[in-house]
Amino acid sequence: MSITSFNPPVRTLMGPGPSDVHPRVTGAMARPCIGHLDPAFVDMMDEVKQMLQYAFQTKNQLTIPVSAPGSAGMETTFMNLLERGDKAVVCQNGVFGGRMKENVERCGASPIMVEDDWGKPVDPQKVEDALKANPDAKLLAFVHAETSTGARSDAETLSRIAHDHDALVLVDAVTSLGGNELRVDDWEIDAVYAGSQKCLSCTPGLSPVSFSERAIEVITTRNSKVQSWFLDTNLIMGYWGPNAKRAYHHTAPVNALYALHESLVMLQDEGLENAWARHDNNHLALRAGLEAMGLSFIVAEDYRLPQLNSVTIPQGIDEASVRSRLLNEFNLEIGAGLGALAGKVWRIGLMGYSSRAENIVLCLSALEAVLADMGAEINTGVALPAAYAKLNM
Ligand SMILES: *Cc1c(COP(=O)(O)O)cnc(C)c1O
Repeated sequence: MSITSFNPPVRTLMGPGPSDVHPRVTGAMARPCIGHLDPAFVDMMDEVKQMLQYAFQTKNQLTIPVSAPGSAGMETTFMNLLERGDKAVVCQNGVFGGRMKENVERCGASPIMVEDDWGKPVDPQKVEDALKANPDAKLLAFVHAETSTGARSDAETLSRIAHDHDALVLVDAVTSLGGNELRVDDWEIDAVYAGSQKCLSCTPGLSPVSFSERAIEVITTRNSKVQSWFLDTNLIMGYWGPNAKRAYHHTAPVNALYALHESLVMLQDEGLENAWARHDNNHLALRAGLEAMGLSFIVAEDYRLPQLNSVTIPQGIDEASVRSRLLNEFNLEIGAGLGALAGKVWRIGLMGYSSRAENIVLCLSALEAVLADMGAEINTGVALPAAYAKLNM
């Protein structure tokens, strides 16, 4: 065997995540590993919690990063809140609502499905009807920013409807955190999970979660133990605590947490609202370019996500060869369609550190070069000026 060090190619990541990691974040990761109970590390954990409260706009004490990717945050919220025999209303308008259903079933609970077309937001009227028909539903679960389609649902309205029916609100904010408006306290969200690798400019592998007082009440008065030992917040809080004497639960991913800390410092320095505005403005520039080229968005303007752009593929073009040419010739990754949208759209991400002018210009010029070379019917020479005019440079 003569396997040598792995040196990944340097790519520009404009898919559905992971997105480009800021050099400050990779730099932070390379700092020395210290013990996960070292007082210096414990102080850093407290800062992470405080900065996550800012990112989520919440005062929730139980606001911590789960030591695993977004999917583990999803499991943490469902496993802790649901018990065997419970009922949960689950909205599905893309891939991730389907995973929520799986989670509910694996908790031994029954999902009541509210379905909307892929590319559409969750319909509040259908949610209202489902909660009316199921007054015993314990919670309402939905995806705020559906990364598989690029649609944003109205979290504030859906949350209000759920509370009117005495149901808890569980929200997937993996792609929203740091990318578009999310106000956990103002919108009275009871349980929320996110991811480090989408709009936070951080590496994959951590999932910030937050639980309201009402949710904690439900968790601490469960009849049965949480099925998962690792994700049981009753146990995790012994380590992440408020006021807890920090006790060993699992070894925290020390260097990954340095990375999250650094990305949250950057978010704090930029300002949350400025980060949201940056995602919006850069989306408008990319959009101007793509539309000038002749591509169209599949999600209606009112609920289009700025950080995830789903666009149609020109007639007669093999979308997979376009993506592999972008990767091979320009080191540029864009996303394919998922599930019902496979083969029908590209998903171009402008998340976190990927949401910047250089990436927009690279994406538009590379896409135009490849599409023109493949003989696609697009308008050439117009995308860059259209985008540039929106970049305010
Ligand atoms: C990416 C994503 C997830 C899953 O996160 P992983 O880090 O891949 O486990 C869940 N929900 C949404 C909306 C996502 O975009």
